[in-house]
Amino acid sequence: MADVKNFDSDCLFCKILKGDIPSTKVYEDELCYAFRDIAPQAPTHILVIPKEHIASAAELSAAENAALAAHILAVLPRIAAAEGLTGGWRIVSNVGPDAGQTVPHLHFHILGGQRLSDRMA
Ligand code: 5GP
Ligand code: ZN
Repeated sequence: MADVKNFDSDCLFCKILKGDIPSTKVYEDELCYAFRDIAPQAPTHILVIPKEHIASAAELSAAENAALAAHILAVLPRIAAAEGLTGGWRIVSNVGPDAGQTVPHLHFHILGGQRLSDRMA
């Protein structure tokens, strides 16, 4: 399916990008892919990932990834609007064990569809 830059055969989200693991697609373009989280923590819970294996936001560099990062940030509100999240929504990107990152492929959670917790941690 999708061309994945720096494809990692051990990475769950790289396998989803390849179509080896099924997912429910919400949005796709040449740089990123969005799909529904398998264990939603809000009525709307979407994951947005680059079509490039980058382990987390800690691996982003301005020199290498500025265009990709800006593109994904611009796509997030378009997905939220398409999902009808008129009351607001939250973006989360967990980095590393203290944040509970379980899949080491950069991803942005879009959470919404209800009043979200006042606390973020
Ligand atoms: P993290 O904890 O790394 O920030 O987020 C990983 C997310 O991936 C979790 O919310 C988890 O529910 C989701 N997830 C894990 N495995 C799968 C899968 O096979 N399919 C989908 N759609 N989501 C997954
Ligand atoms: Zn990956």
